[in-house]
Formats: sequence, C-alpha cells, structure tokens
Amino acid sequence: MAFDLELLPKIIWLIFIVAWGIIRYRPNIKSRKVAIATVSRTLKERFSMIISATGLGYIPLVWIFTDWLDGYNYTQNTMLIIIGTGLLIVSLRLFRSTHKALGKMWSHSLDLREDHKLVTSGIYEKVRHPMYTAFWVWALGAFFLLPNWVAGVSGLVGFGTLFFLRVGQEEAMMKAEFGEEYEAYMKRTKKVFPNIY
Ligand code: SAH
Repeated sequence: MAFDLELLPKIIWLIFIVAWGIIRYRPNIKSRKVAIATVSRTLKERFSMIISATGLGYIPLVWIFTDWLDGYNYTQNTMLIIIGTGLLIVSLRLFRSTHKALGKMWSHSLDLREDHKLVTSGIYEKVRHPMYTAFWVWALGAFFLLPNWVAGVSGLVGFGTLFFLRVGQEEAMMKAEFGEEYEAYMKRTKKVFPNIY
C-alpha cells in the first residue's frame, strides 16, 4: 500500500491536535472552577504564550491549509514519519499523566489557585516540569514529522521561547509560595528530563 508521504504527516498532526484537545478538555473545565489567588501573568508571560501557540499550533496549521510555506518543503521519508508519530504519542501520554497528577492545580499560565497544593507525586516525582517535557516532546515530534523547514522548526523555537522565559519565573513563584518544601523538591528532581536536565 502506497502512502502519500506529503499528506500523511498532515493527517497525523491534525489527529494529534484533536487528541490533545480532548485530553485537555476536562482539566480545563474542572480547574476553572477553582479560583485563582495569585496571578503572575506579566507582559513577558503573555508574549511568550502567544509565541509558543504560534510555533506549536498556528504555523503548522498555516502550512497544512495554505500553500504559503510550500517553498520550504522537503521530501519526507517513512522513517521520519514513524519517529515523529512515536514522539507525538509519547507527548500525549505525558500530557495525560501530568493532568492526572496536577488536577485542579493546573493553569495555562503562572497562577496559584486558592489553597494551592504542591504536587510531588505521580509523574511529578520524576521531574518538576513534566508538562513542559510533554511540550518539548511535541515540538521534537513535529520537527521529525512535518517535512517543512518552517512548520517543523517553529514549535521548537516557539515553545523554547516560552520555556526559557517562564521556567525561572515559575520556580521563583513556587519558592515564594512553598519555601523549603519546594527547595527540597528542587534538590531531588531535575526540570524536564530525569537525571539529565
Ligand atoms: N511546570 C509544570 C506545570 C505547568 S502548568 C509542568 O511542566 O508540569 C503551570 C501552573 O502549574 C503554574 O501556574 C503553577 O501554579 C502550577 N504548578 C507548577 N508546578 C507545580 C507543582 N509541583 N505542584 C502544584 N502546582 C504546580
């Protein structure tokens, strides 16, 4: 059976986005019911959220639905599609585990909810920022899957911008809120990849 190696990555990516939306749907509704006590949404934070969404989502969508970026296409091969798809599946599983562990403490941005609890169990035992691991794996998966230099690289650049602008702020916010408890947690965990970083 011959696959259309140009069309297939687009279909896989769209299925991934729908699956991701389904995974986030319930946590979104549930966590909204808990009031936010502290908002740390700085201008830098808003800017980085837009850059991240553009790189991970909007640019691939533009590539899929228009011909504007077609000048940057390259010929795809089956191996890269398999690697990319595998990474996107890993990313979805990571998103599910993080939502399971974080529950109502989750938010899109840097917020602390009322009666915020520090989560260090489940996947949070392994690393401090497993949801960001999931986003990195998404960006890497898209890089392998999408045979276009702009749409393939935009997720790494977009999410990379958010990650490096946010992670220091987030850890400072958590330290201010949870003090020694968070410092001890930082000592025994890495940020996104166990034993590495
Ligand atoms: N950085 C985490 C969470 C991303 S969601 C991850 O990558 O998995 C961002 C929100 O999660 C922040 O506003 C913060 O309030 C909350 N948060 C981050 N780490 C947390 C933890 N260990 N326990 C509870 N809430 C946490």
